[in-house]
Amino acid sequence: MGMLKSSLAFLVLAFAFFLCFIMSAGDGSYDYFQFVQQWPPTNCRVRKRPCSKPRPLQNFTIHGLWPSNYSNPTMPSKCTGSQFKKENVYPQLRSKLKISWPDVESGNDTRFWESEWNKHGRCSEQTLNQVKYFQRSHAMWRSHNVTEILRNASIVPHPTQTWTYSDIVSPIKAATKRTPLLRCKRDPTTNTELLHEVVFCYDYKAKIQIDCNRTAGYPNPQAISFQ
Ligand code: 5GP
Repeated sequence: MGMLKSSLAFLVLAFAFFLCFIMSAGDGSYDYFQFVQQWPPTNCRVRKRPCSKPRPLQNFTIHGLWPSNYSNPTMPSKCTGSQFKKENVYPQLRSKLKISWPDVESGNDTRFWESEWNKHGRCSEQTLNQVKYFQRSHAMWRSHNVTEILRNASIVPHPTQTWTYSDIVSPIKAATKRTPLLRCKRDPTTNTELLHEVVFCYDYKAKIQIDCNRTAGYPNPQAISFQ
């Protein structure tokens, strides 16, 4: 009888742990935010289909604001928050986002905002509702101009020159006083590592920028190309 009781207790406990695990994957629990900016020419170079614009924008634009977990930075995602409502992107906000957060691949900005909100934004709805999520993202984009920071350090698009990871991180760190993260994409035709994303990390409330040290990055390539 005692044996049966303890087996039952064990089963109940195991099931409770299992439930917690499943729920934490899709609910709004997260530790910090990744604010991800991308270099549009890299999107267009590695993409199988051409981008909608013949010449991609030559400045870093927003990819997304992602609530993330230290144990698994790609989670949470696709949570049970409210779905995107395009009325929340009111006209004045819309005209700002069209500059800071364009769809650099297919040119459908609203659809891009919708997919980012539905996949990431609604996982932190308890902190930032939809209006605040987009307002805050735009404010983050405005607070540091990555393109200008790199230009001031003579890091400008070049067909053959390469930089080390720290060459690129150093001026950004100096300007923002926080460690960013870089992500690259391999160019399938030339096998070079192209700078693709610069990530800033923010605290749980998306108010204070923090170091991205605790976040898994990309294995640092020896030579990074910026084209
Ligand atoms: P995530 O879905 O995790 O936010 O980011 C990955 C996806 O975002 C990829 O499928 C990538 O193609 C997409 N993505 C990145 N930039 C853009 C963009 O400017 N427009 C569109 N439509 N998708 C993008």
